[in-house]
Amino acid sequence: KLLCFVEKYLEPFRLSLEKLKEVSVRLKKDLIRGLGKHSHHRAAVKMLPTFVRATPDGTEKGDYLALDLGGTNFRVLYVRVVEEQQKVVKMDSKICSIPQEMMLGTGEQLFDHIAQCLGEFLESQDLKGQTLPLGFTFSFPCEQKEIDKSILIRWTKGFSCSGVEGQDVVKLLKEAIHRRGDYDIGSVAMVNDTVGTMMSCGYRDQSCEIGMIIGTGTNACYMEEIKNVKRVEGEDGRMCINTEWGGFGDDGSLKDILTEFDEVVDQTSINPGVHTFEKMISGMYLGEIVRLLLVKMAEDKLLFKGETSEALLTPGQFETKYISEIEDGLENAQKILTALGLNWDPVDACVVRLVCDTISSRSARLCAAALATISNRIRVNRGLDHLKTTVGVDGTVYRKHPNFSEELQAAVRLLAPKCDITFLVSEDGSGKGAAMVTAVAQRIWLPGCMLSF
Ligand code: BGC
Ligand code: MG
Repeated sequence: KLLCFVEKYLEPFRLSLEKLKEVSVRLKKDLIRGLGKHSHHRAAVKMLPTFVRATPDGTEKGDYLALDLGGTNFRVLYVRVVEEQQKVVKMDSKICSIPQEMMLGTGEQLFDHIAQCLGEFLESQDLKGQTLPLGFTFSFPCEQKEIDKSILIRWTKGFSCSGVEGQDVVKLLKEAIHRRGDYDIGSVAMVNDTVGTMMSCGYRDQSCEIGMIIGTGTNACYMEEIKNVKRVEGEDGRMCINTEWGGFGDDGSLKDILTEFDEVVDQTSINPGVHTFEKMISGMYLGEIVRLLLVKMAEDKLLFKGETSEALLTPGQFETKYISEIEDGLENAQKILTALGLNWDPVDACVVRLVCDTISSRSARLCAAALATISNRIRVNRGLDHLKTTVGVDGTVYRKHPNFSEELQAAVRLLAPKCDITFLVSEDGSGKGAAMVTAVAQRIWLPGCMLSF
């Protein structure tokens, strides 16, 4: 009987296969809208050209710096691409924390901080005298003009620094470095984390043509036929498109599947009204959805004898990693509920686990619908009846959750039966992948020719 009541709360989160198919059809239309010359500026799914036209061919080599901003940590890396062994070696790296105030401060403070971390790292590696090329993994939607010119469209994932939106991020980075004046960098390649992920897997598997992130945020990129990219001149060959699928639904197209809890998460976020799809899927938000559900169920006397706790009532206190831990075992659930100051009994622990499972499943199935849409698009683009392809994947949710990847893969098989997809977990796509993009850019980039052959 209790389960019946509980199910009432969870039912809106359970998306049938039919519903997922509908979602996939809507996204398919949005991809086309995003690619169009006259429709892209109004499109919810931005479909941003990346100016990456080639995947690695194994002849790349050299030493590179990489910066990685926009995931769980901010990192600086020193990376070597070794030609003979066909591999990318991370020589050393350093994690710098970015305090919350800085994420909401001025752009100048943020870039000064980045330049300082890089400076300290170069100092420690004895690299200050060199001017190494740098791959900058900047995991936010950017309108890229060239590989080294990248205008931030908007912040996501809890960042909101003033004076950066609408600006060229490469210019802001270089200005910060020049303000210091104690070192310099070589050419810069701007990379979205999805692109780095695809490229780092591309080194191992030449058929890797999709990159996907399900972490703090979510997004995917893939190789599109240039003739379909109406904003970029040229008819031949392919270019990697950063879909920014996190924005799917921003025009209201997902209204029918949004729950009251999703609305609250959106309204209390620092960017209300945007990145609707991301807010149903990614690590920045999943814990909060669960927390809101638990509060509501406690208030309605279905949990914890009708009591809540201060921690449970505090936004952000139910972390997304708890979902993984709780689904991994009931003992974990009990520990976490105790730590949250809740008065639980064994039935409560089971219900909480069911809630977590429902929310993470919805996330996995929505990702599956989106990935199915993209693979089907590649298949149809190439006029194939059957497509065999590889997806490079990264992100804490995908990596750390006990059955997220299985659930996602199972749903993709149902939604894209004509695609045979191999999933490759990327080895540090944002670090090594960025170096790889920079290396490929150097291989084929005649100055001024924008990464074209
Ligand atoms: C950003 C994307 C990024 C994704 C994963 C989203 O919030 O808009 O550019 O790829 O997060 O990090
Ligand atoms: Mg074109």
